[in-house]
Amino acid sequence: MKVLYETAEVKRWRRKHSGSVGFVPTMGYLHEGHVELIRRARAENKNVAVSIFVNPTQFGPREDFAAYPRDPERDLSLLKQEKVDVVFMPDAEEIYPPQSNTWVEVGSVTERLEDAFRPGHFRGVATVVAKLFGIVEPTRAYFGQKDAQQLVVIRKMVDDLNMNVEVVAVPTVRELDGLAMSSRNVYLDPEERESAVVLYKALSRAQKLWGKGERSAELLRKEITSLIESEPKATIDYVSIADPETLEELEQIEDHALVSMAVRIGKTRLIDSMTLGK
Ligand code: AMP
Repeated sequence: MKVLYETAEVKRWRRKHSGSVGFVPTMGYLHEGHVELIRRARAENKNVAVSIFVNPTQFGPREDFAAYPRDPERDLSLLKQEKVDVVFMPDAEEIYPPQSNTWVEVGSVTERLEDAFRPGHFRGVATVVAKLFGIVEPTRAYFGQKDAQQLVVIRKMVDDLNMNVEVVAVPTVRELDGLAMSSRNVYLDPEERESAVVLYKALSRAQKLWGKGERSAELLRKEITSLIESEPKATIDYVSIADPETLEELEQIEDHALVSMAVRIGKTRLIDSMTLGK
């Protein structure tokens, strides 16, 4: 397994490797969710590239960029076990040299849900992913469904900018009690960890009601909201029942809907989502 720090080295590696390249962009502090993406990439491609980069431009000024958990040594030994071919671990200067002055703005799908709470977040995400795609030139890139809006934004960017990469969505990997795995779960103290399962409980409730034939998005929103509000440590940022492609809020669900939410458990902000009807 090669560990590379510079853009030029990755480009050189890419030129020497014909055949498909599966790419998994991450911010490190890897868990079973990331591993699932990497295994998919390993199964479907000749070569597998993973990036570890805590991207400063997707964090707001009051967010946890400096505190974001990091453990490169553990990450590298895990990636080696998964038979990854190349790991790209640039520093911020490598990705954003002083002369770098281009930003990717994806438009209306970035202006909903997360944007009200993390303005500019998706500009940072789209820009770094576009740069990484330019460096790695992957055949396929793997993203988790947990970050549902991110996936919609990346698909839209790839489509609008005619990028030559296939975007693959991977289902959310959960803890035994249903909590979606996330690098940020490490922030939860034991009591908060117990409370955090409320996100999954809310999604399961929506799925159950959907299964019984409920099609009113407003009713589902209300049910989810009151379930989460019954958990004293939880504060809702948003609960959304939206069209899975446009992310527009729905009144009535036709064939399918994306249920997504951001909930703060103490100081830790968690997101989760589930698709109904697909
Ligand atoms: P991150 O390191 O949090 O930026 O995540 C890197 C990639 O892993 C993103 O595509 C995430 O959607 C994906 N991911 C994170 N958590 C999970 C999970 N629990 N299940 C599946 N994919 C995940």
